[in-house]
Amino acid sequence: MNVLVINCGSSSLKFQLINAESEEVLAKGLCERIGIDGRLTYQPEGGEKEKSDKPMPTHTEAIQYVIEALTNPETGVVKSLDEIGAVGHRMVHGGEKFSSSVVITDEVKKAVAECNDLAPLHNPANLIGVEACEKLMPNTPMVGVFDTAFHQTMPEKAYMYGLPYEYYEKYKVRRYGFHGTSHSFVSKRAAEVMGRPYEDLKTIVCHLGNGSSVTAVMNGKSVDTSMGLTPLEGVVMGTRSGSIDPAIMEFIAQKENLDIEGVMNVLNKKSGVYGLSGGLSSDFRDLTDAMNAGDKKAKIAMDVFSYSVAKYIGAYAAAMNGVDCIAFTAGIGENDDYVREQVCSYLGYLGVDFDKEVNDGLRGTEKELTKPGSKVRVFVIPTNEELAIARETLALVK
Ligand code: AMP
Repeated sequence: MNVLVINCGSSSLKFQLINAESEEVLAKGLCERIGIDGRLTYQPEGGEKEKSDKPMPTHTEAIQYVIEALTNPETGVVKSLDEIGAVGHRMVHGGEKFSSSVVITDEVKKAVAECNDLAPLHNPANLIGVEACEKLMPNTPMVGVFDTAFHQTMPEKAYMYGLPYEYYEKYKVRRYGFHGTSHSFVSKRAAEVMGRPYEDLKTIVCHLGNGSSVTAVMNGKSVDTSMGLTPLEGVVMGTRSGSIDPAIMEFIAQKENLDIEGVMNVLNKKSGVYGLSGGLSSDFRDLTDAMNAGDKKAKIAMDVFSYSVAKYIGAYAAAMNGVDCIAFTAGIGENDDYVREQVCSYLGYLGVDFDKEVNDGLRGTEKELTKPGSKVRVFVIPTNEELAIARETLALVK
């Protein structure tokens, strides 16, 4: 069965058509500037990437162009819509309502809309994507795969904040965590690579990308994760501060004459390694070049980032009373050898025997970074959220 995987943002929409049995990607692409003007990028497997400007006043037109591209007689990969058996939607926030993927129904859409408060930028966009697909493919089953679902196994002690209990009761203020699809995919793959049962392992997954999060996975379940009510908490990120002393917010508001929105804007968009590097870049490739050219702030940014990841690993080794395996994934985790080396330099006490030679220059490939006999094994495991969504979709639709 071919599954169309859709990741819908407020003005963009990423897609992949995957043969869910062979797990082959048939085509992929991106619609950008939806609601502004509209641009479609489309690439069939083994073919040329095409870019074209198309008017996309809403997501419905965007999906219409995606379908046209996929069924185009010359460059398409399927003859008709009948060859798309299901659509898998990436959904960001399922609150406490969704602890696994679901076939989308009217009740599901209502429940997702009730979580809009918790992810005001993402959830409404996800629902718009669902409704646009429903309009154009009314008979095709749709599945929602939630970023938060994998973390619903966290115990109370991990998800409750030290705040008045009534905020949890009234507003559901608690830790939810994100990147769940990736943490689940990578922790499962780590168990396969180690040849050990998933249910017997203690794994720490470091999903380090534009947004970064670290998760403790014990016996196949997420038991703690660094992101919280929102994706702002946790490790230092590209432009997000990660965890800070909450009193800094009032202090900066007064000094800089900012309201709460202004402070949140600083914490979300002007902080992290971007802020630390003096506004140089949030991209680790730029920071590495600058650091190698002697830029002190770029080096500080890279080191603060790595140190913050290492501290979460230490915390989660404590939370699980041990760790068998640590996996690096996503843009930085898969590609940045300096960050991996820095993080692992703090982990000797755990029994990580790091292999610098294997790590140096390693990009985007699944590989073990520890020497034979290392007590705790460390891996690079490329994530594949689209494939994970296609798998979940196939399992539910079958
Ligand atoms: P993601 O959010 O997983 O797509 O990760 C995006 C981030 O990965 C970018 O902002 C870069 O900081 C980082 N990245 C991608 N490629 C490389 C690379 N070759 N070396 C270092 N960092 C990289």
